[in-house]
Amino acid sequence: MIIRVKIIITFILVLSFIISCNLKHMSLKQDPAKSSYSSTPSKEQNHDLLSFIVLDNKFKSGELRMINEMFSKYDSLQFGSSYEPFRRFFGGDSVEYLTDYLKKRIKYFVRHSEEKLQQQYSGDGWKGIGAYYMHDWLQNIFDPYSQIIQTKINGKTVNIDRPRHGVITSGPAFFDTSIDVLERIGILTHEARHSDCPTRPTDQVAYYLFNFPDQINTSYWSCVNVHAACNDNDEGRACDKITWGSYAVSFIYDAKIYMDCLSCTESEKQTANLSAKTYWNSRFYINPLSGTPNTSSFDESE
Ligand SMILES: [Zn+2]
Repeated sequence: MIIRVKIIITFILVLSFIISCNLKHMSLKQDPAKSSYSSTPSKEQNHDLLSFIVLDNKFKSGELRMINEMFSKYDSLQFGSSYEPFRRFFGGDSVEYLTDYLKKRIKYFVRHSEEKLQQQYSGDGWKGIGAYYMHDWLQNIFDPYSQIIQTKINGKTVNIDRPRHGVITSGPAFFDTSIDVLERIGILTHEARHSDCPTRPTDQVAYYLFNFPDQINTSYWSCVNVHAACNDNDEGRACDKITWGSYAVSFIYDAKIYMDCLSCTESEKQTANLSAKTYWNSRFYINPLSGTPNTSSFDESE
């Protein structure tokens, strides 16, 4: 009997940082589509990640406060150079390599509406950090008669027509007070990985990725790094069957905080260590760090 592995094309964070009117003075005006990125980040540059991201103006004031706290924390991060997998994946040891990775993949941070949450995810298994727009994209390229899927962010139309459209959504779970601020940054790094697609799939592959990912070779899964259900009858949990997927990035981020964060407290490091161990022990079918990661090489215009 074939047990259909229910794939949760994971939670792609479509994080959209919406900034309310009273925060108009913040640095949100830059159109990220016009940004240029250095392939070799400078160690001297200010992280200033937020200046590359458009925040949804639907975020509530409490949420904005947490978002700003997160980016302030991010700006204070300093990394050493002792953790090799981070270097292998991000291309270097410093925070700037992580910044470069994030700003290429997160261009809009959007507040997920309650209506969309209910429409896309009924039940209580999913609380709002995820890949809503990834589903749209896969569905769109499968259906030749569909329009390019679009969404409006702060009144501007953004096309959802490729994996790296840069729209990350955030639901209520992102603001759960039990989540440490460093872990929120970790969530961003995870969701950003879902924006990668080394090779644009054919319509047929996209169809299977969207509907029946367990019925195609897992080599295709590196497109948007889909997850598989964990094989322990826990349908609410997702695992990675591929190397260097989104959970691998989550693990690397936490391990880096634990082993190599120069600006973190001991308590923050221990929290990250616990999280890294949890990922390592519960999210992988295989060694997630074997071989060479495919990360920044694909054409952004795909
Ligand atoms: Zn995921």
